[in-house]
Amino acid sequence: GQCTQWCPSGAITERDETDKVFKALADPKVTVVVQTAPATRIGLGEEFGMPVGTNVQGKQVAALRKLGFDVIFDTNFTADLTIMEEGTELVKRVQGELKKPLPQLTSCCPGWVKFVEYFYPELIPNLSSAKSPMQMEGTLMKTYYAEMKKVDPQKIFSVAIMPCTAKKFECQRPEMVSAQKELKDKNVTPDVDVVLTTRELARMIKRAGIDFANLPDGQYDQLMGTGTGAGAIFGTTGGVMEAAARSAYYLVTGQQPPSALWDLTPVRGMQGVKDATINIPGIGNMKVAVISGLANARTVMDQIKAGNAPWDFIEVMACPGGCEYGGGQPRASAPPSDDVRNRRAASLYQIDANAKLRNSYDNPQIKEVYADFLTAPMSEKAEELLHTTYISRASEFTAKKSENM
Ligand code: SF4
Repeated sequence: GQCTQWCPSGAITERDETDKVFKALADPKVTVVVQTAPATRIGLGEEFGMPVGTNVQGKQVAALRKLGFDVIFDTNFTADLTIMEEGTELVKRVQGELKKPLPQLTSCCPGWVKFVEYFYPELIPNLSSAKSPMQMEGTLMKTYYAEMKKVDPQKIFSVAIMPCTAKKFECQRPEMVSAQKELKDKNVTPDVDVVLTTRELARMIKRAGIDFANLPDGQYDQLMGTGTGAGAIFGTTGGVMEAAARSAYYLVTGQQPPSALWDLTPVRGMQGVKDATINIPGIGNMKVAVISGLANARTVMDQIKAGNAPWDFIEVMACPGGCEYGGGQPRASAPPSDDVRNRRAASLYQIDANAKLRNSYDNPQIKEVYADFLTAPMSEKAEELLHTTYISRASEFTAKKSENM
């Protein structure tokens, strides 16, 4: 994440956890399941001398296979699932069915969530209760996948490849073992056991002596290995908003959205604060905003507190430009600049534009997980497994400040 003196993610230095993963891979009794975040596939190639933004999705999968991961899933799948849950929550808030305040704030960026817990605890009810895509995937690995494939969840070691250092904190939140409530008395493990950054994965690939550039493309495993274009653009600022707009339209009208909603250009680009108006028959005009960088978030949160923010839904990412240039992404070959961020973003938009399916609810594996396991968005089971709670950390911050004096 965006690390300043008071780094909200506690991620000022990156902890190298590759050894833990090598150990799990070497243990024949353990099923090692991995997921890859949207932005990792457009960053990893740069560690192997490829041009900025090269999409190496297939090579990344192939490299994970060669390293010995047993099952390879895609976080793009749970990005779609997040949209189903968070989009449903938004529609319920807007229609007054859910007694929670507007604007709804996104909750998939742990740096941002912790920032709210520290500095704006009074806005915690505005945060979507939906877990991040990473945590949803981890939860489902140890429940849905375990049940379908008859694997003991205690023998699953769940790894997440992320563009982000703050995700290392997120997976250790005590709320993130909810998947295994029924195993409470046993030694439960977190839903995501280890988060590796894109750079750490590059290190593993190099240590294993894999010739990355010449790998033939690999394929994700099924069940949770397919994402739509909407899931892919989660990796750049504005992507969650575009994905949510497409789905919200569908959830309210039952129809595919009009062309302007497929490419919601006002929320694209590297500006710190962007906004747009979305018209959805049955709801009317919905005002949305997209923020990247925590300094920009502060200004908007103060506006909400003062009661003069016009928006219904706001996406916030701690890193300027979003996850494509998160704290765990390659940087040596491409120091941070808007040009580099735009090139990485362009690669994600290309994945979306080329995708056969561009709407989260059209994802066949999303239909399957609801039909076979979760019932419906925000069902009792979905609430239990895919939603979470937040805590005020205002006093923690005050305590830390006085310690430092
Ligand atoms: Fe992590 Fe993305 Fe948030 Fe940055 S914007 S802290 S990479 S989740």
